[in-house]
Amino acid sequence: MLEGSDVKRLSAEAQKYLIDLIRIDTSNPPGNETAACEYIGNVLDKEGIESTIIESEPTRGSIIARLKGNGEKGALLLGSHLDVVPANADDWSVPPFEGVVKDGCIWGRGAMDMKHTAAMFLAAFVGLKRRGEPLSRDVIYCACADEEQSGFYGMHYLVENRFDLIDCEYALNEGGGYCAVIDGKHLYTVQNAEKGVNWIRLITRGEPGHGSVPRKDNSIVRMSKALREISKPLPIRKTKIARQVINKMAGVLGFPKDIVISQVFNPLFSDAILKLVKSFDERVAEMLFALTHDTVSPTKISAGYKENIIPEKCEAVIDCRILPGQTSGEFRDMIAKMIDVDEIVPFDLPVTDPTESPVNTELYRAICKTLKKHDPGCVISPFLMPGATDNRFFRKKGIVAYGFQPLKSERLELKDYLDGIHGIDEKIPIDGIDFGVKVLYDFLRDFCA
Ligand SMILES: [Zn+2]
Repeated sequence: MLEGSDVKRLSAEAQKYLIDLIRIDTSNPPGNETAACEYIGNVLDKEGIESTIIESEPTRGSIIARLKGNGEKGALLLGSHLDVVPANADDWSVPPFEGVVKDGCIWGRGAMDMKHTAAMFLAAFVGLKRRGEPLSRDVIYCACADEEQSGFYGMHYLVENRFDLIDCEYALNEGGGYCAVIDGKHLYTVQNAEKGVNWIRLITRGEPGHGSVPRKDNSIVRMSKALREISKPLPIRKTKIARQVINKMAGVLGFPKDIVISQVFNPLFSDAILKLVKSFDERVAEMLFALTHDTVSPTKISAGYKENIIPEKCEAVIDCRILPGQTSGEFRDMIAKMIDVDEIVPFDLPVTDPTESPVNTELYRAICKTLKKHDPGCVISPFLMPGATDNRFFRKKGIVAYGFQPLKSERLELKDYLDGIHGIDEKIPIDGIDFGVKVLYDFLRDFCA
């Protein structure tokens, strides 16, 4: 375990890094992540740690640094992204790029997603170097550009062009590690799977003509039929990861909720169970639905150019999130069979197949061991994220990658700070950073000894 004064110092440093990073506006677009990389480079430099900034384009930097181990074990990478989604200052109760400290929290765009992790990883990484103990494996710090816009200028670029710098056996990044209190028990997730992202353009065509003479094959009417069809809930899908998560949740919930939730895959009961869960916890119901269903959301539609002309073409875009166990191509084929459209055109990026890392690994066990030490009696569960993160690039390379950002707060409920992600008044509780730094540093010392 960490000594008290070390914890305080590392956590205070993490808080300062976070505030400084929030003040460097990396709204994407345009990103401007190089400025944040240079800040981190300076911190590392003062600690005597060499770093490299790789720019995929001018100003689109990612920074990588390495603590050398003796090579006995495979390298561990601590990954984060430095870009943030834009923030409209008028909507916020504090300026979004000032790193305001208020009510026991640090406020600002990126506080949760995910500059606090870039800061906590940095503090723990620096702490490990200062400690000077021999390491059995390399530890790589990597904070990169462009996660919010597909990763093309960030992790995707690094994997394609500078894989030598980030090659590792294990990687940590975003998407799990927060403490949720359910029925009085502490539940931590380790994000080991992500849904695939499929953006698909649909095109219908029909004979154009005067609006006074309706046409049976009106392209807009055909598209609206197709969208209505595709927006109905898709059948429930049973996957290994969903089974694992639901078993863990059942273990946390008391009787009779545990029995109810474990029946969610039963086609006779699943609809009723989802409704029931919604009545006592809307968030858990949303998560359960995402965990057991592929989803389709129409997000764009365009057709027509004059009030009295029937257009020959209608285009729509659907955003589909697909569960592990299928490829993007297979899902598209299924969609094609369900609807009557003339063309189905996939996007290039960020389209990605679902990804999953196994949990029967030394990394997962080490995370569990550390969490149980710091929060005895807690439950740890694998987790499937409905969205995509940079973890997917590592998993495609066969690297075990988890979302793990340990965070527990006594003063703020989980939903209060999760709501800030991509929202307004994003903030992170300072006691959460204290906990996160303590867990991370302790984990690193154990896993890399
Ligand atoms: Zn993020």
